[in-house]
Amino acid sequence: MALIVQKFGGTSVGTVERIQQVAEKVKKFRAEGHDIVVVVSAMSGETNRLIGLATQISEQPSPRELDVIVSTGEQVTIGLLAMALIERGVPAVSYTGNQVRILTDDSHTKARIQQIDDQRIRADLKQGRVVVVAGFQGVDEQGNITTLGRGGSDTTGVALAAALKADECQIYTDVDGVYTTDPRVVAQARRLEKITFEEMLEMASLGSKVLQIRAVEFAGKYNVPLRVLHSFQEGPGTLITIDEEETMEQPIISGIAFNRDEAKLTIRGVPDTPGVAFKILGPVSAANIEVDMIVQNVSHDNTTDFTFTVHRNEYVKAQQVLEATAQEIGAREVIGDTKIAKVSIVGVGMRSHAGVASRMFEALAKESINIQMISTSEIKVSVVIEEKYLELAVRALHTAFELDASNSQAE
Ligand code: ADP
Ligand code: ASP
Ligand code: MG
Repeated sequence: MALIVQKFGGTSVGTVERIQQVAEKVKKFRAEGHDIVVVVSAMSGETNRLIGLATQISEQPSPRELDVIVSTGEQVTIGLLAMALIERGVPAVSYTGNQVRILTDDSHTKARIQQIDDQRIRADLKQGRVVVVAGFQGVDEQGNITTLGRGGSDTTGVALAAALKADECQIYTDVDGVYTTDPRVVAQARRLEKITFEEMLEMASLGSKVLQIRAVEFAGKYNVPLRVLHSFQEGPGTLITIDEEETMEQPIISGIAFNRDEAKLTIRGVPDTPGVAFKILGPVSAANIEVDMIVQNVSHDNTTDFTFTVHRNEYVKAQQVLEATAQEIGAREVIGDTKIAKVSIVGVGMRSHAGVASRMFEALAKESINIQMISTSEIKVSVVIEEKYLELAVRALHTAFELDASNSQAE
């Protein structure tokens, strides 16, 4: 008999019928004798709808009030699922983040979990109840409701599994595992049997939204056995594992991640003097804007161009900051581009293989896709390209690195 935390995402609880199906599934696990804690998201589309309501009232909603509003989505689904279980004769009880006491810091809309009180849940499990917990939400020291950032129910699931020392955390979703790339973009994408925490963390932070980054961080830190599975289809899913050697396949590249969330800003004709990077990026970071990729051109006529990317949501703010800096330091102009995308190849196999980046560049060149920026680390290479070429680029790279499903079957 095991203690299992099962997290069901938005589409898996998107209708009353699906909630009934989830209840059947949980009942089956329960009948096998396992202790079950279920974490649920809001019904799919609900969180967006709630944010939409808020932005009709206020262009820049108060983060505290926004959390009060968006946390309600999960409160509905926990009640419905607990009821569906009770209807089936399975004793169940639902809790909000506050009721469990999932304590977070006070960074509204992107709070971090600090501590989880496991007493109430343990007492219920002991009484034979299934405990249904609202994902995505917590409470700060002052009792304010907080939320954990989009996709945050994954993190609730993993954090609960860590706190309860669960035997496994199962993330049930609308795909049957982690794929070499988003299967909705590349039909040839292949499910991975296993992926390392390190690779999954890169994939998540480079745009693969199948798991929230913090969930992967948490799982790695507390060594929570984590598996991604399909809610309504049988199958082994994908195991996120600590051991590189354990992964059966050892391809150079495990996956391709991409995102359209960034925008690019360039400040041109900057007098090339020591401290210039600090003068430009200092005010950006002081405005709390996170910078991702950075490129400084070789100086020409004693001036240089400086380019960096930020989240698209912060593009306008960053542009204003940069305009002010340009005036101050006598730069020629500020230009920006929001129609960019970042494509990344990820794999621990890269460590032992040279020429991975050039193979990537070659594949993009063959499709006549221009690379605007490049950044590399030990296990990833990222490039910025024009957004309209994104899908073409991902498909070309998927083929170039022999990730296509037909390839693997031929082997
Ligand atoms: P949930 O609501 O269950 O949390 P999400 O929409 O957050 O589901 O995550 C599942 C989605 O992630 C899939 O439908 C898929 O389109 C997308 N996705 C992106 N990259 C990958 C990947 N590498 N493997 C699997 N799914 C991916
Ligand atoms: N409902 C939240 C969201 O849509 C949290 C989650 O689904 O994980 O982002
Ligand atoms: Mg999700």
